[in-house]
Amino acid sequence: MNRKTTDTTTGGRTPGTRKKLIVVAVLIAAIIVLFLIGKREDVGIFNYLDLQYLKAQQDTIETYRDTRPLLTAGVYFAIYLVVTAFSLPGAAVMTLAGGAIFGLLWGTVVVSFASTIGATLAFLLSRYLLRDIVQLRFGDKLKAVNAGIEKDGAFYLFTLRLVPIFPFFVINLVMGLTPLATRTFYWVSQVGMLAGTIVYVNAGTQLARIESLDGILSPGLIASFTLLGVFPLIARKVVDGVKARRVYARWQKPQRFDRNVVVIGGGSAGLVAAYISAAVKASVTLIERHKMGGDCLNTGCVPSKALIRSAKFLSHIKRSAEFGIREANALFDFADVMQRVRKVIADVEPHDSVERYTGLGVECIRGEAKIVSPWEVEITTEHDTRRLASRSIIIAAGARPFVPPIPGLEQAGYVTSDTVWDLRELPRRLVVLGGGPIGSELSQCFARLGSKVTQVEMLPRILIREDPEVSDLVMRSLRKDGVDVLVSHKAKRVVIENNEKSLLCDGPEGEARVGFDVILVAVGRVANTEGYGLEELGIGTTQSRTVQTNEFLQTIYPNVYACGDVAGPYQFTHTASHQAWYASVNALFGRLKRFRADYSVIPWATFTEPEVARVGLNESEAHERNIAYEVTVYGIDDLDRAIADSEAHGMVKVLTVPGKDMILGATIVGEHAGDLIAEYVMAMRHGLGLNKILATIHIYPTLAEANKYAAGVWKREHAPQRVLQWLKRYHAWMRG
Ligand SMILES: Cc1cc2nc3c(=O)[nH]c(=O)nc-3n(C[C@H](O)[C@H](O)[C@H](O)COP(=O)(O)OP(=O)(O)OC[C@H]3O[C@@H](n4cnc5c(N)ncnc54)[C@H](O)[C@@H]3O)c2cc1C
Repeated sequence: MNRKTTDTTTGGRTPGTRKKLIVVAVLIAAIIVLFLIGKREDVGIFNYLDLQYLKAQQDTIETYRDTRPLLTAGVYFAIYLVVTAFSLPGAAVMTLAGGAIFGLLWGTVVVSFASTIGATLAFLLSRYLLRDIVQLRFGDKLKAVNAGIEKDGAFYLFTLRLVPIFPFFVINLVMGLTPLATRTFYWVSQVGMLAGTIVYVNAGTQLARIESLDGILSPGLIASFTLLGVFPLIARKVVDGVKARRVYARWQKPQRFDRNVVVIGGGSAGLVAAYISAAVKASVTLIERHKMGGDCLNTGCVPSKALIRSAKFLSHIKRSAEFGIREANALFDFADVMQRVRKVIADVEPHDSVERYTGLGVECIRGEAKIVSPWEVEITTEHDTRRLASRSIIIAAGARPFVPPIPGLEQAGYVTSDTVWDLRELPRRLVVLGGGPIGSELSQCFARLGSKVTQVEMLPRILIREDPEVSDLVMRSLRKDGVDVLVSHKAKRVVIENNEKSLLCDGPEGEARVGFDVILVAVGRVANTEGYGLEELGIGTTQSRTVQTNEFLQTIYPNVYACGDVAGPYQFTHTASHQAWYASVNALFGRLKRFRADYSVIPWATFTEPEVARVGLNESEAHERNIAYEVTVYGIDDLDRAIADSEAHGMVKVLTVPGKDMILGATIVGEHAGDLIAEYVMAMRHGLGLNKILATIHIYPTLAEANKYAAGVWKREHAPQRVLQWLKRYHAWMRG
């Protein structure tokens, strides 16, 4: 694979989008023309929508209405619809006319329906023609607006409808760009506009006395409407406040607090939350029941990366000929490899130790924590049980491996990512259940160490969150290492026959039987939400069984927070510590200012060989979410340093906004992808585009150059062809 060209897929300027833009341009032009013609005194249609004209014609209109009432109503209704649907000026005069023609009751009925239906048509027109374009272009920036509208759209619209300073047609058009449901728009508009409609229709019944439109709404009336408009929002806030207080109603609040924060769990999330609290001089206690450092240090990132390093070394020995070494052999004992893993954990341990954190000002307690009230945590240690009263509590209790209820599994025995590190003998035959990052990393390791590994995944491919070709690259590499990867295989049962353990799966070709000595279950991780007080406090869980929090990481008790694996939605060390910042800062300073957890740029990596690293969108997600993108692929097989290292494989795949260098996401597959992605993370975080990456000097020869070359591929595809043609002519002319 060489440098690939840019491939525009759902492209921002799709034919559909282009058509819509043309329709919008035509509509705007038509409205301008109509407006200009309308302003002309001889033929001006807006003359008919003028207050003085209306007053002059009142007698004629009334006579017409008396002779043909239904037709009058029909024509009036139709004109009103056209004026409002196309956002033409004149809606206010039309409303007055409604009062003049039909009186207060019927005028209100006719105007209310005509204006609401017309407004809804304008709303739909804006939605159909403009929403996709606006959301595609500014989707990321509009995330908060969209979320707000989805949650409280009806309230906002009601306020806008009642407060007369917001023009009617602007509200229709702007609301059309948001995710507000059409039905909600309709009924809120009808109810929200009713008061204003009555005032205008009523004024219309006394048309003769009105001199200008300005006088209809007195300052007092405007103020009353404004109050009426903001009332639901204020009421909503009050209700929220009452609700928040109600959850506390059954608890006795302590007179005073022993701590500002108590943190439950000393893993990545808990450590960072405690660190930040201590750094800003708060009184903080960290409670850990098992080992400081939690999952990442003891059973997760650290041991797995240590094992991957040893396995990679063995794979290099196997590949010695590729490096010009005729023969290289490794003599090793699996127990020594696992001993090294232990040593690596021990070497990293001081970073997360009680001593270090005590030195930083954190009180560390080894014990089991239980939340007994929204402000109190009971701690059971080896020696005693005591209670601490804290203004805030941060739950950082992590997750554990999920073990599916497969018949026979318990009887046969299994290991998980918690216990696999205790193995001291290399399994001759290992089944790895699960094709996610943990299952894939460990399958490759054990195969390289010499186990006969079968990896079983029920979905059609491993690493399902990544794009299909990425999964494919990793799967091929695993197979090259000797892993038998069985995709579309659903584990059904574990049987023991004649002392021989087997896993039975349903596969595409019927039942498959895989014999094993050890089975490693790596099918996902489930948050720790039971047994430490959440049930008693009524703190609920989400569909993915994590602790339910709001965007500020607060549980139903605003002073009780959750972060890390226990809160989700991500299960990484770096997201755990990212959330811990929000949880601790909100817990300590939330009364002054609260921060919404920002998940806009989240990177991650799977440390298989090749490594897979990603930030932002990949193609599958862009398709799913109907987001327009262009894709640029640079093949790392073309990179000088990768060639020199005999690691010339993989790719940098970047998704950008069509026609722009703005990065929507990047996936890197290859050596050190997890390190290389940092440049794209930085670029996305700070809004830098591919042009900026291209304009940055990258050291030669490094793998990092791949990032720049990917930007180069994009640039070539977006070179201004017309300018280049002119340049060609210029150079030809210069040659004479
Ligand atoms: C094999 C493997 C490899 C991984 N590799 C990576 C990787 O390469 N990169 C990456 O970013 N992530 C990786 N992860 C994920 C990462 O380890 C977790 O996302 C991270 O550790 C979560 O941190 P946490 O603080 O939320 O939870 P944890 O680290 O699980 O910490 C929670 C702590 O709370 C304690 N606790 C729970 N309940 C109580 C209680 N009632 N009282 C007192 N203490 C309690 C637990 O003992 C635990 O120590 C990997 C995970 C695994 C399993």
